Amino acid sequence: MDKHLRLKLAIQKSGRLTDNSLDLLVRCGLKYSRGKDQLLCFGENMPLDVLLVRDDDIPDLVQEDVCDLGIVGQNVVEEKRLAFEARGISPLFDVVTTLDYGRCRLCIAVPDGQPYQGAASLAGKRIATTYPNILTRWLRDRGVEAQVVTLSGAVEIAPRLGRADLICDLVSTGNTLTANHLREAETVLESQAVVIRTPKPIAPEKRDWLHRLLARVDGVQQVKESKYIMLHAPREALPMIARLLPGSEHPTIVPLEGTDEKVAVHAVCRENVFWETLEALKAAGASAILVLPVEKMLP
Ligand code: ATP
Ligand code: ZN
Repeated sequence: MDKHLRLKLAIQKSGRLTDNSLDLLVRCGLKYSRGKDQLLCFGENMPLDVLLVRDDDIPDLVQEDVCDLGIVGQNVVEEKRLAFEARGISPLFDVVTTLDYGRCRLCIAVPDGQPYQGAASLAGKRIATTYPNILTRWLRDRGVEAQVVTLSGAVEIAPRLGRADLICDLVSTGNTLTANHLREAETVLESQAVVIRTPKPIAPEKRDWLHRLLARVDGVQQVKESKYIMLHAPREALPMIARLLPGSEHPTIVPLEGTDEKVAVHAVCRENVFWETLEALKAAGASAILVLPVEKMLP
């Protein structure tokens, strides 16, 4: 196949999003070989090349049409979007799907022992961050005039070095903050990994695979939580049981041989099914309850 007719997708080369992103692509059916330079995964059974890059470069690669798709944190997408807009450039990357990994939040954190009394108390303070555009917008929305100190890394040590009074940085567990004698004061942005794509028209030869890949990504996301439930239920308990099945739309009702009072109910539940749900189903009259994992789904 013509090299130009292969889809190009950028993912993080090595970092918090890398394993999950490669795993997602494998679940989408991709078989790949990794180039010697480790910069590219060549799709062997799909016309798809996966570029391995720094996460900060991913929106730019889509912007510049080097890649059709990217997987990156919302925090990076939002920062880049605001940066482009500030320069009067239209961002050319649309978020198409939210993924279930890379969860974190961009937080303002205060050194231990320093009081925090709401956004207004940030006036005149120096706040160190690698997300100057997001932070500036947050401060502007609250009418606070503070000094945004843009750093390229090691934000959490800025207060101890005397470079800033507080920080605005990514947090997931909060352990890094605690280790650096900081505590969370405000959440500026909640984030997780997303798929971005170019809004530009894509060559027809590539378009079909782009849609197939995105549909598979959605399918993978949906099955992760989904379960297939089978149970027996008295007919009169069906309305109650249907209400208890988490995130299922139209259960299938199947007659049972040799009885009119009971039926079999089969349903796909789009949410995780917990023991509590099974206990409630049993209390509502259900028996022979089976919960099966769903491997693939194509709505
Ligand atoms: P790169 O070398 O690619 O620039 P990086 O150091 O910027 O790597 P990572 O620390 O690997 O990036 O984080 C990548 C993304 O993972 C972040 O942009 C964010 O979306 C997400 N993430 C999830 N939890 C955290 C966390 N606790 N700290 C930082 N990022 C997190
Ligand atoms: Zn980065």
